[in-house]
Amino acid sequence: MSSTAGRVSVVGVGPGRSHWCTPAVRDRGAAATDIVGYGPYVDLVETWTSGRLHRSDNRVEADRARHALDLAATGRDVVVVSSGDPGIFAMASALIEQLDAHGDRWRQVDVEVLPGITAAQALASRVGAPLGHDFCVISLSDVLKPWHVITRRLAAAAAADFVIALYNPRSRHRPEQLADAMAVVARHRRPETPVIVGRHVGRDAEQVTIVDLRTFDPTTVDMSTVLIIGSSTTRLLDRPLGVRTYTPRSYPDDGAVPKP
Ligand code: SAH
Repeated sequence: MSSTAGRVSVVGVGPGRSHWCTPAVRDRGAAATDIVGYGPYVDLVETWTSGRLHRSDNRVEADRARHALDLAATGRDVVVVSSGDPGIFAMASALIEQLDAHGDRWRQVDVEVLPGITAAQALASRVGAPLGHDFCVISLSDVLKPWHVITRRLAAAAAADFVIALYNPRSRHRPEQLADAMAVVARHRRPETPVIVGRHVGRDAEQVTIVDLRTFDPTTVDMSTVLIIGSSTTRLLDRPLGVRTYTPRSYPDDGAVPKP
């Protein structure tokens, strides 16, 4: 490896709205010689960079990561774009996994991660503060982990009374699994528990609704949707618009979590 090795910044552009992207990410995008990423995310940065654009398919994260590292190894200044935050179900860990797997190959390449607003934060802000107390984030995608692991984690999170944000909730390849997942959660939650459904949050086509576990309809959900399921303490205010749900900062001594 020569001493001219460049840099890879794995950046998050936020959930869609350009002003939800940090100035740090914009500055890196503007300075980069090369932008690597899934097509639609590269489209987002296209207007504020003069770097060369390398669009790739969404499924080949490892190839994309190696491509970015190889470019940087020749001295290029590379930005890898992710939606939301790059460390949450996205390219940062895919890229670091390549560093881990290949030992010395890219040792001279300077690698950094620049955070972004993740989908759950964006959705939470639209309706109030449902993530105000302990919460967890679970991906329902079974591409990279087995479904039985997903349901076990869901059951554990629901039993522990976490607010639960669900990413990758329903794809064409697994249309039925979301209903199964919600049934697992429903075993530990009241039927009137709020379920916040956010589709294309921060984009022109944004749709945000609040339903409950009983009325939730999985067929309204696709891969551009993020869900937040309330805990036993998440409350709904009787207000017509905007901010109307929150999870209080305090948790009662006699809450739903079983005592040891
Ligand atoms: N790194 C991204 C998540 C990638 S996983 C982040 O931090 O947000 C892809 C999943 O994220 C989607 O299936 C969806 O559940 C969620 N998601 C990402 N952007 C979204 C948006 N603008 N609106 C709703 N959900 C979104």
